[in-house]
Amino acid sequence: MTFAHDGWENAHMRSVPAAAEHSLLKTFGLAALAVVVLTGACKGEKSSAGGPAAPTPSSGGLPVPLPTGAASGRIDNSDTAADLVTYNQAVNVGLSIPVEGAIQRAVGIITRWELPIPVYVDPSIIGNCVGEALAYWQSVTGLSYVLVGADAEPRITVRAAGSDELNIAIGSGLVYRTYPNNRARLGVVRILTSNANCTAPSALFRHELGHTLGIFGHPPGGLMGAPMVGTTASQREINFLTQLYRLPHGTRIDADGSWRVVSQ
Ligand SMILES: [Zn+2]
Repeated sequence: MTFAHDGWENAHMRSVPAAAEHSLLKTFGLAALAVVVLTGACKGEKSSAGGPAAPTPSSGGLPVPLPTGAASGRIDNSDTAADLVTYNQAVNVGLSIPVEGAIQRAVGIITRWELPIPVYVDPSIIGNCVGEALAYWQSVTGLSYVLVGADAEPRITVRAAGSDELNIAIGSGLVYRTYPNNRARLGVVRILTSNANCTAPSALFRHELGHTLGIFGHPPGGLMGAPMVGTTASQREINFLTQLYRLPHGTRIDADGSWRVVSQ
C-alpha cells in the first residue's frame, strides 16, 4: 500500500533520493483501472472531432482565487499551510529531464502560475483529455487557463513521450523552469505514447496536470495521492490549490502558516 505510487512518475523522480519515490508501481495499476472504468463509461458517446483544443470555459462559476495585494499574512488552515510547504515549497522535483533539460526551481519559495494558466497541447495528444482535465480543475478550484501556441512562454506543454523518457512510468508532470521569484515559467506533462490517444475524462491527465498546477508531490487520499483514491480531487487538494493561488509570487511560508514575500 505504501509502496504504491506511480509507475506514473518514476522518471521525473529519478534524481530524488530513492527512498522518497522508490515505489512508484501500484498506483499505476489503480490509475490505469480508473482510466479504464471511465473510458468504459463513456463508450457510447461520440467524442467531438478529436481535436486537442477544448474551448476555454467562459466562467466556471467558482471565483478565480487571487492574491489580495498584501505582502504578508497568515494561512488560517494549518493543514493546508503544512501541505503547501511539503508538496510545493520544499519539493525538489529533480535535476533534469531528458528533453527539457535542467530543472531550475528554487526551493523555499512557493511556485505557481500567473492566471490564466497557459497550456499548449502538442498534436501527439489525440482526444480531449487535456481540455477536460483543465475544465475539471477549474470547476473545483476556479483556476482559469488559456490554450496557447507551442512557442509561448510561460506555458505548460502536454505531449506524448516514449518509455525512453518515461522509463516505467505512464506519465509525468512538473514545472521545470521558473522566473527569479519562482513564478512558474515552463512546465511539461508527458504521457506515454500508448496512452496519448485518450478518451476523456482521464484520471491520468487530471493527475499529471495537477502536478503542473502546483501539487508537486503526492498528498494521500485523493486524485493526487499515491495510490490515487478515486478520480476527483479531495477537499484537501482543492484547499491546497485555492490557497496557493491566493499567495503572491515570491512567497515563503513558515511552519506556523505565516507567510511573506521574500523575492520580487
Ligand atoms: Zn503523481
